Amino acid sequence: MRSVWMVVVSCAALACGAEGETNTGTDSSGSSSDGTGAMVTAAASTSSTSSTSTSSTAVSSSGQPNGSSTGPGSTGAAGSSSSGGSNSICEVGGLPARWQDGTRCPEETVQVHRYSDDTFILRQSLCTGFEAPFLYLLFGEDRVLLEDTGYNGVDVASVVSGIIDARLAERGQESIELVVVNSHGHGDHVGGNAQFQGLPNTTVVGFDVPSISSFFGIDNWREEVAEYDLGGRVLDVIPIPGHQSAHVALFDRAEGLLLTGDTLYPGRLYIQDFPTYVASVERMVAHVESQEVCRVFGTHIEMTDQPGVDFDFGADEHPGERALELGLEHLVELRDAVVAMDEPVQEVHDDFIIFPL
Ligand SMILES: [Zn+2]
Repeated sequence: MRSVWMVVVSCAALACGAEGETNTGTDSSGSSSDGTGAMVTAAASTSSTSSTSTSSTAVSSSGQPNGSSTGPGSTGAAGSSSSGGSNSICEVGGLPARWQDGTRCPEETVQVHRYSDDTFILRQSLCTGFEAPFLYLLFGEDRVLLEDTGYNGVDVASVVSGIIDARLAERGQESIELVVVNSHGHGDHVGGNAQFQGLPNTTVVGFDVPSISSFFGIDNWREEVAEYDLGGRVLDVIPIPGHQSAHVALFDRAEGLLLTGDTLYPGRLYIQDFPTYVASVERMVAHVESQEVCRVFGTHIEMTDQPGVDFDFGADEHPGERALELGLEHLVELRDAVVAMDEPVQEVHDDFIIFPL
């Protein structure tokens, strides 16, 4: 029988009714020049020669949280999880030393980090909601894909359009089609979808299985992997139900990025349907293990920088937060752990907590 606490956790973790503080994107710190509440940090070790240019165009480069180093000079591609050697695609991209952690509200409502020339990682501020989801913006030549749209009314669309305008200006490109995809259907990942509905040159795929299946041409949800070409950048769309029925992972072959949503991230991995989840994790491993996986990115951080120690549920300040990045080895560790379970049980690992509901 579930405790009351467990019920509360399961509901709020799925953002089924959470109504937190709403911040519509204004920046009271005065550090943002464009009113979107966004800040940009540039990849530290990207091979890009233009990695800082966005910060001078669409969105502000200001707002280093707490005086920390999230900009140039922060940690880079030499992450904990690279399968690539020299000249590998894994040398592309860099990550901030830390993300805004909610300890000094207000902070920028959306932190924008330029991972590489064509990959941006956005994090909604903990000050706007404790889920503080990560969003991903992946540019191809013909299309740009946004994974997830945040929640609690934060103005994600303005931030995204600022990044797109700046990137197009860099390229001397007139326009590009925006495709909005959701990692899964929970409220903290789809809350901003409506902001994109009806925008020119924009497609919002939807977050139910029929919509995703028909858009990507998936006939058998639990068996197939679809390919989606952004133009010189092919993504594999891998249905991974279990945390939620319409969950997908995206594998970006160009930069070796595996986006795992809420199925794997440094935090509590809430599992709604355990057998389905196990099968999905097995399929995800099977699909990517022969490929070059540079980094695994999920959509939250709930672990501290102490192995096996998480923040309290609902914590809206994350001092000493673990890094976002995971690697293929974590996915394999997760698979091995859940496959070995005779029945679903909570299990604490250094970098994540298996949390059947
Ligand atoms: Zn979530």
